[in-house]
Amino acid sequence: MLSQVVELIENKNRFGITTHIKPDGDGIGSSLGLCWLLKSLGKSAEVIVRGEIPPAYQNLPGAEEVRDIESVDRDYDAIFVIECSDLDRPGIKGLEHEFTVNIDHHSTSAHFGTVNWIDSTASAVGEMIYNLCKAIGGRVTREIAECVYMALVTDTGSFHFSNTTDRTLKVASELVKAGVKPADISEAVYSNYPWSRIELMRQVLDTVKRDETGRVASLRQTLKMRETSGAVDGDNNGFVNIPLAARDVLACVYMREIGENQYRVSLRSKGDINVAKVAERFGGGGHRNAAGLRIDGDWDEKERELIEAVREAVEYGEAVAAGDITVAPDVF
Ligand code: 5GP
Ligand code: MN
Repeated sequence: MLSQVVELIENKNRFGITTHIKPDGDGIGSSLGLCWLLKSLGKSAEVIVRGEIPPAYQNLPGAEEVRDIESVDRDYDAIFVIECSDLDRPGIKGLEHEFTVNIDHHSTSAHFGTVNWIDSTASAVGEMIYNLCKAIGGRVTREIAECVYMALVTDTGSFHFSNTTDRTLKVASELVKAGVKPADISEAVYSNYPWSRIELMRQVLDTVKRDETGRVASLRQTLKMRETSGAVDGDNNGFVNIPLAARDVLACVYMREIGENQYRVSLRSKGDINVAKVAERFGGGGHRNAAGLRIDGDWDEKERELIEAVREAVEYGEAVAAGDITVAPDVF
């Protein structure tokens, strides 16, 4: 919990900070924000990430100093593991021998750290880093603010997803006061893609369809589409949300081919419809309105199973909203 994290920061000196491979804005923004906070407290700190940082985040303060490493190669008193479901997610060897501090806002997080601070009410880990900064008596510098704002804006879909709370907006306001220029951050994220994103979007949207209820939409992305569009990682960010622009569509299943009969799946929903529960049934996880999983098998068959499961969640969500069901069955 937070008090343990404050205490260990006060008692230790050399920190590593890592997040998942192919970090999103929350993973890398929170890591860099924490790094700036630790340095401002006079500690030694560095961010270690396996692989490249996506272009949208390369201009964040401190991004140029992030080290791309395969295994832990320096002595640390503790390593913060940000926004990871388990200790394998960073893709860095040797973490299991370290004193690790798991900081996450996914309720499904395994408590894999030596210390675990999980706050599923936080919109982003970035919000937690801001709280940590306040709890430890740090000053919110412009560097911390820019990194943490990036975390908030990406994880809340520019403050429009249901995880956006009064606290999120209050934190965002404080970050702007500390020097963040919201339009600059938004432009770095949303208006900074290569043309391959548009080409990939055209092809993926060509596959869009709805189930017979019109409530559940689905999208497919083949390996060939990636190849012919020249897509790079991140080009498909947000595609899963596009069908939700339709009033009657309440959930979307987006399947991406990653190998022969292998797929990554993103699930999104509106309102009370809980796709995290659906993802968990298939071995994945996430949040109520945004979840994911990996699945193997015949494409048509697996897509049917997923759509069916999501439709059950939609029907259940609608029944609850109508007041027809008051006791939750185990699956939802
Ligand atoms: P995305 O669809 O953007 O990949 O993921 C949406 C959410 O679901 C994220 O919060 C992510 O952490 C979670 N998620 C995606 N894939 C998996 C998975 O395979 N396992 C678990 N536990 N969570 C996942
Ligand atoms: Mn997050």
